[in-house]
Amino acid sequence: MSGRAPDVLVVGGGLIGCALAAELAGRGVDVTVLDRDEPGAEASGAAAGMLTPQSEAQARDAFFDLGIESRGMYPRWIARLSDETGMDTGYRSCGFLQCRFAGETAGDFEWQRALGLRVVAESGETLGARTGGRLSPHVNGAFFFPDEAVVDPRLLTRAAWLSALRRGARVRTQVAVLGFVIEKGICRGVETSEGRVPAGAVVDAAGAWAAFEGALPLRLPIEPVRGQIVALRLPAPPFDALVAASDVYLVPRPDGSVLLGATMERVGFRKAVTADAVARLIGAAARLMPSLGDAVFASAWSGLRPATPDALPVLGASPVPGLYFAAGHHRNGILLAPVTATIVADLLTGGPKRDLSAFSIERFAPALHLA
Ligand SMILES: Cc1cc2nc3c(=O)[nH]c(=O)nc-3n(C[C@H](O)[C@H](O)[C@H](O)COP(=O)(O)OP(=O)(O)OC[C@H]3O[C@@H](n4cnc5c(N)ncnc54)[C@H](O)[C@@H]3O)c2cc1C
Repeated sequence: MSGRAPDVLVVGGGLIGCALAAELAGRGVDVTVLDRDEPGAEASGAAAGMLTPQSEAQARDAFFDLGIESRGMYPRWIARLSDETGMDTGYRSCGFLQCRFAGETAGDFEWQRALGLRVVAESGETLGARTGGRLSPHVNGAFFFPDEAVVDPRLLTRAAWLSALRRGARVRTQVAVLGFVIEKGICRGVETSEGRVPAGAVVDAAGAWAAFEGALPLRLPIEPVRGQIVALRLPAPPFDALVAASDVYLVPRPDGSVLLGATMERVGFRKAVTADAVARLIGAAARLMPSLGDAVFASAWSGLRPATPDALPVLGASPVPGLYFAAGHHRNGILLAPVTATIVADLLTGGPKRDLSAFSIERFAPALHLA
C-alpha cells in the first residue's frame, strides 16, 4: 500500500467500523478502514436490527444507560445518513411487544417508569389489537415498549460505508489484517495481506475476530456466539411492532417478510445454518403466532456475535498506546453503533471525556497479558 499514513486505521468494516470511520472523517480525521471481506459481510449483515435496550433490561446500569443513549441518537443519525446517501435504512420506531404465556411470570419494569421511560402493560383486547388478533390464545399478558425501534442492518451498514466514503474516509476491502506493529511499546500500524500499513492510531473493530488469536499485543477475551435467523414471507406486513416470547422474536419488515430470531450458540467460528435451529425457530414462532405456520419459507442465515465474558462491549483506549478498541458488542452492536462511534471518535479527537470504566479492557486486568 502506498500514500501517507492515515491518522487512524480502523480494522474491520462492520457497522461499528464504518460508523466510526464516518464519524472521524466528519471531524476532519484522515481515516482508513481495512476489511478482509467487505462491510456487512459478517454480523452486521446478519443481525435482526432491533434497537431494544428496554425490553430485556432487569436493572439500571452503565450498559442500560448506553443503550438508551444510543437509541436516542438514532433519529438524527438516520436522518443524516439519509441526507448524505439518499438511502432508506428501514428505521422505524415501531415498539416492542414482550409476550408471556400462562404460567410465565411478568417482569418488573417500574424502575424504568421511574426513569421516565414508557412501558405499557397489555392484556386482553389491547394485546390482540397490536397484532391483528394473530397472537396465540395462550398468551395472557405482555409489556409494550413504545419507544423501541428497528432498522435494516444490511442497509444501515451500507449507508454508513457510503457516508464514510463521502466524508473522505478510505474503505479498503479484501485486505486482511494479520498482526499489529508495536514499536517501543506503541502501536504504530498493522501488518496486512498487502503489506505493512503505518498509522497514528489503530482501532480494533474486527467483531468476533477482534481477539486476533494471539496476534494482538494483549489478550482480548472476545469469542463468537452464533446466531441463526429464519425469514418467512407473507403477502403483506402482518403487524407493525416487534413481537417476542421468551424463546423467539419476530421482526416484521415492510416487504411482508418476518424474521424469526435468534439462536445463541457457542460453536466457534462455524457459520452453518442447522436444521435443528430452523425447526426450533419456526416452532417457537408458530407457538406465539399460529398463523405463521402458513407463511412461505424464504431463507435462513447465521452470523457470529462478538461476545465478551460479561457481555459488555470493549470501548476506548488500551494499555498499549496507539491501540484502541470498538469491539465486543455481542447482541447489541446495531443498537450501540452511533454511541460507539461518538465515544471512540471523542477519545481520538480530544472530545468530551466520559467514564468508560465499565467498558474498558482494563476490567479484564487479571487476564490481560502484555506480550
Ligand atoms: C443473528 C444475529 C442477530 C442480531 N440481532 C441484533 C439486533 O437485533 N440488534 C443489535 O443491536 N445487534 C444484533 N446483533 C449483534 C450485531 O450484529 C453485532 O453486535 C454487530 O454487528 C457487531 O458489529 P461489528 O462491526 O463489531 O462486527 P462485524 O459486523 O462482524 O464486522 C467485523 C468486520 O471485521 C472484518 N474482519 C474480521 N477479521 C478481520 C481481519 N483480520 N482483517 C480485516 N478485517 C477483518 C470482518 O470481515 C467484518 O466485516 C445480532 C447478531 C446476530 C448474529
